[in-house]
Amino acid sequence: MNRPVESEQAGRIRGVAERLRAAGLDLLVVGPSSDFYYLTGLVGLPSERLKVLLVSSQGESAMVLPAFEASLVDHLPVRPALYPWEETQDPLVGLQRAVRDLGSARRVAVGPQLWGVFLLRIQQALSESGFVDGGPLLAELRMRKSPSELELMRTAGRIADQAYLQVIAQPVASRTEREVLGMIHDALRRGGLDRLGGGIVGAGANGASPHYKTADRRIAAGDAIVIDYGGQYRSYWCDITRTPHAGPPSDEFRRVYRIVQEAQQAAFESVRPGVTCESIDRVARDYITRHGFGEHFLHRTGHGIGLDGHEEPYLVAGNALPVEEGMTFSIEPGIYLPGRFGVRIEDIVVVTRNGADRLNSSTRDIAIVS
Ligand code: ZN
Ligand code: ZN
Repeated sequence: MNRPVESEQAGRIRGVAERLRAAGLDLLVVGPSSDFYYLTGLVGLPSERLKVLLVSSQGESAMVLPAFEASLVDHLPVRPALYPWEETQDPLVGLQRAVRDLGSARRVAVGPQLWGVFLLRIQQALSESGFVDGGPLLAELRMRKSPSELELMRTAGRIADQAYLQVIAQPVASRTEREVLGMIHDALRRGGLDRLGGGIVGAGANGASPHYKTADRRIAAGDAIVIDYGGQYRSYWCDITRTPHAGPPSDEFRRVYRIVQEAQQAAFESVRPGVTCESIDRVARDYITRHGFGEHFLHRTGHGIGLDGHEEPYLVAGNALPVEEGMTFSIEPGIYLPGRFGVRIEDIVVVTRNGADRLNSSTRDIAIVS
C-alpha cells in the first residue's frame, strides 16, 4: 500500500516536534511571520488581532485565529486544530483551551518574530509556563533549503540578474538615485517578483555608506553607483549588489574594484560543506586587509537568506557554525572610502556537495554606464 505523500510543511512540523523533544521543550508558539509560513504555507501578516500557531512536542498543531480568517486554513497543506475567536471574544481563552488540548506546556519555545505585546499576553495567560527563545530551533530547520525552495530562490536570483542587465543598458547619468531605484523596481515587478525590498542606489560619496538611504542626488559622469536590491518571488528572497560606474572610471576606482571582486571570488571559492561561517568571512577580510583596505570593510561578509532577506547563518567573525549542503547566504564584501565612493559586490550562493553555486550570474566586472 502506498503511504500518502507528506507535504513539506507536515515534515517541517514533525522536525519541530523532534527538536522540541530533544531540547526538553513542550510547545512552540509562532506568530504571523516567515516561520508561520514555513510551517503552514499560510502567509500570515502580523496585525493587532492575535493569531498564533502552536506545535506540540508530539507533533500536534493548533492555530488560534480570528474567526473570519478560519476559511484560509481550508487549503493549507497542514491541518492544525482551529481555535477561532469572534471580534468580541478574548483570543486568550481559545489559546488556553488549545494548550490544554495539546497537553503539557511547562516549557514553551517562542518564535523570534512574535510581537512583544502578544508574548506578554500569552505569558500572562500561561502563567505556569516558562518561556525560551525558539529562534535557534527554527533556524536549525530553515537554514538548509529543500530542492523546491532552491528552485524558487534560483528563479528569484534570475529575476534580480535580469533587472540589473536591463538597468545598465539604459542611460542613468542625469537621473536621480531615486529614479534609478524606480527603474530597478519596475524591472523586478515585470520579472515577476511579488514583493520588493527597499533597495539602495548610492552614487558617488553616498555609496561610501553601506546602508545609505536612497535620495535625490543626480548621477553624473565620474560617479560609482552602489546598487543593492532584492525582493520576494513566491515568498523567497533574492538580494544582489553591483557597482557600475558612470563614464570612464579612474585607475584608483579600478584598483579598489578589483580588490573587492577578487575578495568576493576568493570567499566564494572557499565555500564547501564543513568550513565555518567565520572562515568564509576571514577569507574576504584577509584579502582586503592584505591589499590595504581592511579598515574600510565595515560589515560582515554575508547573511543567510530564504523566507527572510536576512536570516541565519551569518558570515561573521565568532560564528563557528560549519556550513552544510543546501545553505544559502550572501557573499558581499565592500570597500567604503568616506567622502569619495564605495564598492560592494554581492551574490547569493548555495552550498553544494563539494563547493558552492552562485544564484546570481550577472556580470561582476565593472559595468560602465552612460
Ligand atoms: Zn543586498
Ligand atoms: Zn545582502
